[in-house]
Parts: sequence; structure tokens; C-alpha cells
Amino acid sequence: MNLFSSRLTAISLLLGFIALAGCAPAPTDLVVYSARNEEHVQALFDKYTADTGQKLQVINDDAGPLIQRLAAEGKNSPADVLITVDAGVLWHAADLGLLRPIESAILDENIPEHLRDPQNRWFGLSVRARTIVYSTERVKPEELDTYEALTDSKWHGRLCLRTSKSVYNQSLIAMLIAQHGEEKTEEIVRGWVANLATPVFANDTLLMQAIVAGQCDVGIVNTYYFGRLQRDDPDLPLKLFWADQQGEGTHVNISGAGVTANAPRAAQAQKFIEWLSQPEAQAMFAGVDLEYPASPEAKAVEQVVSWGEFKPNPLNVAHAGELQPAAVRLMDRAGYL
Ligand code: FE
Repeated sequence: MNLFSSRLTAISLLLGFIALAGCAPAPTDLVVYSARNEEHVQALFDKYTADTGQKLQVINDDAGPLIQRLAAEGKNSPADVLITVDAGVLWHAADLGLLRPIESAILDENIPEHLRDPQNRWFGLSVRARTIVYSTERVKPEELDTYEALTDSKWHGRLCLRTSKSVYNQSLIAMLIAQHGEEKTEEIVRGWVANLATPVFANDTLLMQAIVAGQCDVGIVNTYYFGRLQRDDPDLPLKLFWADQQGEGTHVNISGAGVTANAPRAAQAQKFIEWLSQPEAQAMFAGVDLEYPASPEAKAVEQVVSWGEFKPNPLNVAHAGELQPAAVRLMDRAGYL
């Protein structure tokens, strides 16, 4: 290396250091790794700072990269809190040792037991159901019942599904395994595949648009995606049907949070999650994306309430993580792409 290039290296290192220092959080800021839509949570995070004086440094990314980053940073991670969607994803982060167990009477009180980790490493903060959606033009709700009933031959060529690559479907199938066992669940999935009207869809919205377009009559979606379409078109010829109300209940999933294993500010991190579990924050957290609050004390927004009450399946959502590998293998065997 000649003198010129070593000087350049020194300058670029110095510039890099200044750039890093420029965006580094103050030591007292709480560092939040968030996989939630930035626009959805910003007002809530601002309110936390206004209420408590605690500043937040939020790093937004998808769950996968955030978890990889936490794992790579190890003991040097600046992160205090991980917020993400899907119980399976939270379970996976905990399984990798990236979240720490916390004792909190407030969280025990505010968050129902089936929506939090049995080992207290993550806590549900909002709830979404994954249930049946149907064409109001071609289907009567009396024709619908359970997830399993969608295997009936009357739905042949009338069912649309999202890809099995979606973590939401992996969680749904994992929960069905927890409920029915593998053999029965495989029968259900094979039955669905036999009834498919079209190739699987990349997302829930495309699936619902296919029902509207008449390509199929029924599907399975997350409630908030239905809500978004309905908000854009109040005359949407689709409705939600609460699956399995005579049986175990409709499959629910969560978004949630945990304190990171190496959190430099673990006590403040716990306070932040506890604050998020209070009714007012809960209503805000769920309301922005048409979800249900995890706390029974908080109210869902009017549009969500208009979908009617339902009985959620009370199985602990941790099964979505535990049984995810089995679910993925099962869907593969059953030919669900
Ligand atoms: Fe989603």
C-alpha cells in the first residue's frame, strides 16, 4: 500500500466513524428493532416519548434481517427490544436465544396467557385472525363451517389459497397440527389442494381480488388484509366468516415484542413493552392496521368491531413456532405449493 492509498484509507475510516457517530443513539435512548410498518407505529412511539420522556431509536427492517442482525451482533448488540409479527417468528427469535425471559405482573395481567410465550420471552401486542373469506354473491355463510370443511367436494374448483411459503400459512398449519395431529391435518391440506381453483397466490390481497373477479368463491386470509380492501371499497362483495365457532375456534396469530437477550437497557425495555400493553396504547397499536388489541381491556376500532365477535382458538400461539418445521414438511408432502 502506498502512502496515498493509506492516507485515503485513513480518511475513509475517519469519515465512516463520523457517519456512525452521527446516527448512533445517545446511551440513554432505547433501541428498538421493529419489523412493523414504520408509518403504523411512529405515532405510537412518539406518544411513548411524550408520555415518559424516554427517547427511542428505531431500526426498521423485515423480521428476517433483524433477527440475523441480532444474532450477528451478539453481546455487542445495541438493541433492547424486538418487535415483529407472527408468533412463529417470535418463537424462532427466542429459540435462537435472542430474547430474554422477563417477570412482569403487568404483562401477565394485560396479555392473555395463550398470546404470550410460556417462558415469558415474548408477548403478543396485537391479534389478527386467519379465517375464511367468501364471495357474498356466490356463497351463503350457512354453507361454511370449519377449515376442514373447505375440503368438501362442494368447494371443488372454488377455493383460493395463498402460497405455503407464507409464514402465516405455516403458522396456521402448525396450529392445526397442534389441534388435530399430523395425520388429520395432512388430510385437510390435501383436501384443500384438491379443491384449488387457481395456482396459489403471493399474498392475501391478490387472493381476495381473485374472489371478487370470480376466479374462486372462498379463501383463507388475515383479517386486516380484508379490512384494508374493505376500507378502500365499502361495497366489496366479500365477507369474513369465523371458522370453527362450534369447535375449537378461529385461528389467531399475533404481533408482539420481547426484550433482547443482550439488551443494554433491559429495565427500560421491559417498561416500554409494559406501556404497550396498557389499554390506550393497545387500542392505538391495533387500530392503525385494523387488528384486535391483545388486551381484552382495549377496544378494537369500529370497522373491526363491525366484523362481529368470534371465539378465538385458545391454543398457545407458541405452537406456531414449535410445529413450524413439521408444518412446512407436511405442506410439501401434501403438494401445497
Ligand atoms: Fe401481514
